[in-house]
Amino acid sequence: MKEALLYEKLGDNRVRCQLCPYNCVISAGQTGYCGVRKNIEGRLFALTYGKVISIAVDPIEKKPLHHFYPGASALSIGTFGCNLRCQHCQNWQISHQDATVEDEHLQDLPSEQVIAMARRRDCEVIAYTYNEPSIWFEYLLDTARLAKQAGIFNVMVTAGMINPTALKSLLNYVDVYRLDIKGFSEELYQRLTGRKLLAQVLENARIAFKAGAHLEIVTNIIPNWNDSQAQLDGLSRWIVHNLGPDIPWHVTRYHPAYKLTEPATPVETLNRAREIGFKNGLRYIYVGNVPGHPGQNTLCPGCGKTLIDRTGFVIGNNHILKGCCEFCGHKIGHYCGSDTPPRQRSTPSAYPIN
Ligand SMILES: [Zn+2]
Repeated sequence: MKEALLYEKLGDNRVRCQLCPYNCVISAGQTGYCGVRKNIEGRLFALTYGKVISIAVDPIEKKPLHHFYPGASALSIGTFGCNLRCQHCQNWQISHQDATVEDEHLQDLPSEQVIAMARRRDCEVIAYTYNEPSIWFEYLLDTARLAKQAGIFNVMVTAGMINPTALKSLLNYVDVYRLDIKGFSEELYQRLTGRKLLAQVLENARIAFKAGAHLEIVTNIIPNWNDSQAQLDGLSRWIVHNLGPDIPWHVTRYHPAYKLTEPATPVETLNRAREIGFKNGLRYIYVGNVPGHPGQNTLCPGCGKTLIDRTGFVIGNNHILKGCCEFCGHKIGHYCGSDTPPRQRSTPSAYPIN
């Protein structure tokens, strides 16, 4: 437990948290909407500082990230709580958990140990993931700072609900902002999360992009929620016009989870989303959660040849040399990666550390 940054003291032992756009006013003994920032006798504390519930070494492709060091291993950590609470959350057992609840699975993992573990496991990347990392701001900031010093990349897998001041602090150390944009209307956000959050999420995407972070965007396509022409057309146009045509957009298949019982997304819906995005000018659109779909591969926008083929989270040949297509020389925009072939992993997918 650590005293939180970014809050102000009010009268009557109340505090106002300034970390995320909710700016919760929290009375003594209470936590904010996220469930992990608690007012104790008029001071705000980050309850999950230095504590994790999930830890694993994942292929970077699982985040998903397709244009940042393909084949890299990501030490992935996550903790409790969330400030969105989506109806279709896949990780609701941890994200909707309250950190004040005793849980035998919560373990101490100081920042120094995260770095040591990443080194021991030969991970090029640390991913802050599984639940919303914005709400463990202080832990993320301290860990990312040490990782940077150690030459390890920092990946934030986020839904983008954070105040700009906090985000800009993180972007001093965070290399990758892997952002979920859940749809393209405030009404959709209201239905899905209970709040109108779209404007802030889009603003944060622009802030991360301007700061030079590597950006990849994910939209989980849910039938009858965000699969309309207006949603898909609006979002893909927004990405092209605000972030450029080279930003990868992952359209992933939704499966029923938590409170949503709609059937899984038909593959043809994902294909349609891809067509709409390509028509609007995006150059790299990936289909996720559909094993064997050719939309997992990276194609050259110049000659159309396959540059990186993927089977699940395992990558095969990599024909990107010095950031360009090996066949026609076309520059692959918004791409960070080594030119050496991916090293062989001991297992093809994630394996738990503990
Ligand atoms: Zn080419």
